[in-house]
Amino acid sequence: MFKLAERIKQLPPYLFKEIDQKKKEIAAKGVDIIDLGIGDPDLPTPPNIIEAMVQAVREPANHHYPSYSGMEDFKIAIAKWYETRFSVKLDPASEVIALIGAKEGIANFSLAFLNPGDYALIPAPAYPVYNSGTHFAGGRPYVLPLYKENNFLPDLASIPDEIAHTATILWLNYPNNPTAAVADRHFFEDVVTFAHTYHIIVCNDLTYSEIAFDGYKPMSLLEIKGAKDIGIEFHSLSKTFNMTGWRIGFAVGNSDAINGLGAIKSNIDSGIFQAIQVAGVEALRAVEESSPAIRKIYTRRRDIMVSGLRDTGFTVSPSKATFYLWVPVPDPYTSVDFTTRLLEEAGVVVTPGNGFGDPGEGYIRLALTKDESRLIEAIERIKNIGI
Ligand SMILES: *Cc1c(COP(=O)(O)O)cnc(C)c1O
Repeated sequence: MFKLAERIKQLPPYLFKEIDQKKKEIAAKGVDIIDLGIGDPDLPTPPNIIEAMVQAVREPANHHYPSYSGMEDFKIAIAKWYETRFSVKLDPASEVIALIGAKEGIANFSLAFLNPGDYALIPAPAYPVYNSGTHFAGGRPYVLPLYKENNFLPDLASIPDEIAHTATILWLNYPNNPTAAVADRHFFEDVVTFAHTYHIIVCNDLTYSEIAFDGYKPMSLLEIKGAKDIGIEFHSLSKTFNMTGWRIGFAVGNSDAINGLGAIKSNIDSGIFQAIQVAGVEALRAVEESSPAIRKIYTRRRDIMVSGLRDTGFTVSPSKATFYLWVPVPDPYTSVDFTTRLLEEAGVVVTPGNGFGDPGEGYIRLALTKDESRLIEAIERIKNIGI
């Protein structure tokens, strides 16, 4: 057998392995499984975006290697959207880069800015790629636990001075996956001050900026004065436009950060298929045509799920953003025990919170990525087994 490299052997254990296995076993018995485990929208990509892609794919000019940093039109569309949506001005040439999905950029970013042994400040629970990217670059994660008492925001003041002085990158993600927490201007102002003080690059993952409810509008880190000196923001078309399979996203912000990421990428990939970028231009042109309907669907699902769970005895508050619910598990269960019970007895798949890092223990994450009738069915089944 070939020996795996240490960087793979030392990856944190994949906590969903057992659940995945159990899910297969139960599905094989013919159980009708309701999967609320995956953050992948069930809704289709809006038709205007598909139409733009169909036309662009017929165009021979789009069949070549794309530019590394993204088509000019796509980068201009991104800058335009940022100005309309966040009142943030960006130079499309130096402050914008196209990504093959936000995940790609997040994973590659650490290679550009971490030297072996450098600290990256990483919240937990969190999207796992901040951690794996750090690990692949030889960096050391310093965990910032997210607790309910602190509204699932990291406590920057608790970071020891010697860690803050040696840290290179701070990862943030608001609206947050998996906790559905949001951050306000005051928090981002503190972040910018902290980053200036300790000379840290802030990477904000703003993937869920358009999935927000009850009139709440998530903000960009770059809206804060001085943020562009220290910050970069990752975005994705995946969640905003139900385009997870298309693989398109982007990063914007500090030009040195964008440049560094570009230097890594130009040695690893060759950009996004141009027809997909043309579709991306159309998507961003028409955000306000597609997003309100998508938000409305998730709002209804959220309300159904929250009231159903409350009736069943769970303590859960309605999320202000994202399509997740972050739900405390009843005593005396652990996250994994309760996830297993829901799967075995109710045929409902959820994600155990500790799969996103130890401080996620005691929670499960539910994704509202199934239609209303399935969510109602899931609630019925959970009610039947009781908690
Ligand atoms: C889904 C998700 C991503 C990945 O987005 P892609 O553009 O599909 O790679 C990144 N960050 C968070 C927090 C996500 O939930």
